[in-house]
Amino acid sequence: MLRSRRPLHRRFVAIVALLWLAHPVPGWTWGAGTHHYIAQNYSKHLPALMTGLCAYDSIVNLHVTDPDTRKGSVPGESYRHYIDADYYPAFLAGTLTHSRATLEAQYGASVVLNNGIVPWAVGENVATLTQQFQAQNWSAAALTIADMCHYVGDINQPLHCTQNYDGAMTGNSGIHSRYETTMMTSHIADLHTSVMPVTYYASAVDAIFDNLTASWAGVSTIMAADNTAKAASGGSYNSTYYTSLWTSTQDMTRTRVDAATQMTASLVYTAWVDAGQPVVPGSNAGVAPSAIAGARLDAGPTPFRDHLTVRYAGAGPLNVDVYDVRGARVARLVDGASGAGSVSWGRASSGGNVGPGLYFVRLTGPNLNVVRRVTLVQ
Ligand SMILES: [Zn+2]
Repeated sequence: MLRSRRPLHRRFVAIVALLWLAHPVPGWTWGAGTHHYIAQNYSKHLPALMTGLCAYDSIVNLHVTDPDTRKGSVPGESYRHYIDADYYPAFLAGTLTHSRATLEAQYGASVVLNNGIVPWAVGENVATLTQQFQAQNWSAAALTIADMCHYVGDINQPLHCTQNYDGAMTGNSGIHSRYETTMMTSHIADLHTSVMPVTYYASAVDAIFDNLTASWAGVSTIMAADNTAKAASGGSYNSTYYTSLWTSTQDMTRTRVDAATQMTASLVYTAWVDAGQPVVPGSNAGVAPSAIAGARLDAGPTPFRDHLTVRYAGAGPLNVDVYDVRGARVARLVDGASGAGSVSWGRASSGGNVGPGLYFVRLTGPNLNVVRRVTLVQ
């Protein structure tokens, strides 16, 4: 996640204020601990045919903070670490385009750049990684994975997804470094990520935006936690404050850090599948590449108002479930089926209990995990 996320001209006032308060400048930067944690844990999720990449874990860990280091020397780098998603009214309505070109046509390229471009930076990483896998250039791929680990980590820090990145809009000024640096430095050792399945993304950028939406939901959690902690400590940023801040945010924080490790592994897996599943030297034999062949999941139309049609196929037993943006399962549509089939879901079939918003339809089966994103509108 992070560090000073803003381009210099936007950070100037904050930096001057910090200097005036005699805070050491490093205090404004992300204690790199969370980035390193994600780099050290992503590869545990890789499927058996890709475990050879674990030989590069130390390279990924060594280079995971390079994107922050580059900010001073590579023009435009600083914009690649965040997106002020809630600047765009369409984001709040669940209809924000995932196309940078479309957004630039609407707002102008400089506005889009200033509001941050992290989703497309990750999309570029996936395309680069696919080419490196095709060329079987594993050392170059490790450096791309390090970059991807970094940017995916940034996306999963909710304060990298909002205009209110330092709490100034809600009376929570200074929360950025209190949350991501001071608090996290004390609690890295409390994190524990379990092995989770990877997902193949038909569209990496769509998946990245889905992840962004889930991450952004943590902004209000952090601001409320700051208010609660300040009330408990009498306004001092002492151990009472930080204990309270961690208590209120740890569930969300663990979810986001775990999601960053899983998403990085899934993006690496997606690039490998798109590259034609080249043999990764040193990997365990096991899962047959053909396991995912013939698997299919379609869900549409999206956006939809009343009925969503879900078509699936694959070697069973297959399950199809629907999750909301917070990761809660709201419906099981298929339970242990095999072959191909079709089901529908929507307001009527759920007794009117589902509201408008973003949902994820997930097909799971042996060595199979495919997700489609759909939007239910009013
Ligand atoms: Zn960053």
